[in-house]
Amino acid sequence: MKLREHISIAKRAVKMVFSQSKAFAVCTMLNAFLAAIMPYVPIWFSAELIDALFAKAPVETLIFYVMLTVGTVFLLQLLKTYVSHQKDISSSVIYRMEDWQYAEKAMKMAYESIESRDVQLLRNRIRMETQTGYNRFYLHMCMEYAVRYTTEIVCSLALTVSFFTNQTIPLYMKLGLLALLTLTIVCNIVLTAKQKKEDGNFFEDNVVMMNTVGEKYSQYIGDYSAGMDIRLYQMTEDIVESQSRLNREHTKKSLLLYKKMTALSIPQVFLNHALQYMTYLVLIVGAIAGGISVGSIAKYVSCIMMMLTSISKLVTMFQISIVNDGYLKRYFSYFDIPNKMYQGSLTVEKRDDNEYYVEFRDVSFKYPNSDVWALRHVNLKFKIGEKLAVVGMNGSGKTTFIKLLCRLYDPTEGEILLNGVNIKKYDYDEYMSVFSVVFQDYRLFAFTLGQNVAANTDYDEERVKHCLHQAGFKERLETLPNGTETYLFKNYDKNGIEFSGGETQKIALARALYKDAPFIILDEPTAALDPVSEYEVYSNFNRISGEKTAIYISHRLASCRFCDKIAVFDHGEIIQSGSHDTLVDDKKGKYYELWRAQAQYYTEQTV
Ligand code: ADP
Repeated sequence: MKLREHISIAKRAVKMVFSQSKAFAVCTMLNAFLAAIMPYVPIWFSAELIDALFAKAPVETLIFYVMLTVGTVFLLQLLKTYVSHQKDISSSVIYRMEDWQYAEKAMKMAYESIESRDVQLLRNRIRMETQTGYNRFYLHMCMEYAVRYTTEIVCSLALTVSFFTNQTIPLYMKLGLLALLTLTIVCNIVLTAKQKKEDGNFFEDNVVMMNTVGEKYSQYIGDYSAGMDIRLYQMTEDIVESQSRLNREHTKKSLLLYKKMTALSIPQVFLNHALQYMTYLVLIVGAIAGGISVGSIAKYVSCIMMMLTSISKLVTMFQISIVNDGYLKRYFSYFDIPNKMYQGSLTVEKRDDNEYYVEFRDVSFKYPNSDVWALRHVNLKFKIGEKLAVVGMNGSGKTTFIKLLCRLYDPTEGEILLNGVNIKKYDYDEYMSVFSVVFQDYRLFAFTLGQNVAANTDYDEERVKHCLHQAGFKERLETLPNGTETYLFKNYDKNGIEFSGGETQKIALARALYKDAPFIILDEPTAALDPVSEYEVYSNFNRISGEKTAIYISHRLASCRFCDKIAVFDHGEIIQSGSHDTLVDDKKGKYYELWRAQAQYYTEQTV
C-alpha cells in the first residue's frame, strides 16, 4: 500500500468516527491529552519543590508548591474522569451505529450481492476481524494514542530542553547519549515491526481455523435450533473433539509465537536499560560539575525515559495503524460494494381496472459465477386476473423465474415487461408494490403475529384476522390467548410460540394477502402443509386470490389444475403451456408424464 493510500484510508476512517459520534471522537482525544499531561505535573512541581528545599526556601513557598501540585492533579483527574465517562457513554453509540450500518448496507445492496458467497465471506471476515480488534478497535486506539504519545513527546522535550543546552555536560557525553537514544529508538522500531509481522502472519494463518472454531462449532453448539440434530445424530462428541483438537493446535502455535516475541524483545529491554544507566551517568557528571540541580536530575531522567517510551509507542502505533489500514480497506470495501442494478424512476401506473400484464420476452439467465443457464429462452405472457401455474421438477427453474419477475436479479438476456415497459425502468419500490410473494424459503420474524402479517409495527387488527382466516389459520388463531399480539419464537417473549411448518406457511400466506397487491405469487405454498390444509389452500385459492393475477408454483400437479394456464418448466425452458385439459391430452408431453407419475398419490377423489 502506498503512503498516499494510507493517508486517504486514515482520513476516511477518522472522518467516519466523527460522523458516527462527534462526542466519542472528541472525548477520545481529550481523554488521551489529559492522560498524557497528567504525569508531567508532579514531575515538574517535584523538581521545583526539591530545588526550593535545597535553596532553603520559606515554608510558605514549599506549601504553595505542594498545594499547587495536588490541586492541579486533582482538577485534571476530575476532568479526565468526566471525559472518560462521556467517552464510554458515546462508545455504545458507535457500536449501535455500526450494527445499523451493516443492516442498512445489506438492505441497500442488490439481492445478487447479498446472496453472493464472496460477499458473505467478506462480511464474515470483517466481523471476525472486528472482534479480534482490527479495523474499529485499533482505529480508536490509534486515534487516542496518536494524541497521547505526541503530547507526551512534546511535554518531555519541553522539560528537557535545558538538559541538552546545559554547558556543564561535555559535548561528547551529550552526543553519546543522543547516539544511544537514536539506536534504542531504531532498534525498537525494527524489532516492533518484526513482532507485528509475526503477529499478523499468525492471525492470517489462523483465520480459517479460528473461523471454524468460532462459527462452525461454537455457533452450532450454542444455537438451540441445531440442538435437535446434534443430539439425534450424536454429533456432540465429534464436535467437542474436533474443537478441542483445533484448540490444541491453536495453543501450540500461540506458544511458538510467544517464544519468537520474547526473543525479539530481549535487545529492546537491554538497550532501554543501557540508556537509563547512561542518562544517570551523564546527569551525575553534570551535577558534580554544579550545572544541574538535584531537583532536575529526577525530572530529566523521568522525562527522557518517558520520551523514549512515547517515541517507541508512537512508532508501534504507527505500525499498527499501517497494518490496520489493510483491514480498514477491507472493511470499507464491504460498504463500497455498488448496487449494480439499474434503478429506474418510472412510477407504476395505478390502474383502477387492474389491467396489468407481464411479458417475458426471450429471457435467459445464468446465476452470477455460474456457467449453467438456469433459464433459457423463456417466452411467456400473462395478464391480470389470470391464474398461472408454473410446474416442473426440482431445479427446473421455477423459483428463478419468480426471482427474475421480482427483479431480485436482472435477466442475462432478453427482457421482462410490465404493461409493455421494461421492468428495469420502474422505480424498484414502486415496482415491488405490485407483487405479494410467498417464497419457499420465506422468513418470519420474532415479532407479534399481527406485525408479521402486516410486515409493519402498526397493523389493522381486523384486516390481519381476515387474512389469517383466508389463509386457513382461523382455528389456530382462536386458540391463542394473546391473539394477534402473540409473539413468534422465544427471542423477545418467553411465552412466544414456535409454530409448526404448516402454520408458519399459513402466516406467510396471510402476509402476502395483507399486502393486497395486484399480483400474488406463491412458491410451493403448500409444501409444509398436511394434505387437508393443502387441499383447503388450493381449493380456496381462486377465492383467496380473487381478482388478482396469481402465479402458483408447485411440483404437485394436482394443486395446479384449477389454474387457467399451466407452464411446464424443464431444464430452464418452458417446454409446454396451456390448460390442464389440453396438456393432459398430449400423451407424449412432459406434463402427462408428471401427471401420471403423481396420479397414484393424488386420486381424483382427494383432488
Ligand atoms: P426450482 O424452483 O424449479 O426447484 P430453481 O429455480 O431453484 O429451481 O433452480 C434452477 C437452477 O438454478 C438449478 O440448477 C439450481 O441449482 C440453480 N440455482 C438456483 N439458485 C442458484 C444460485 N443462487 N446460484 C447458482 N445457481 C442456482
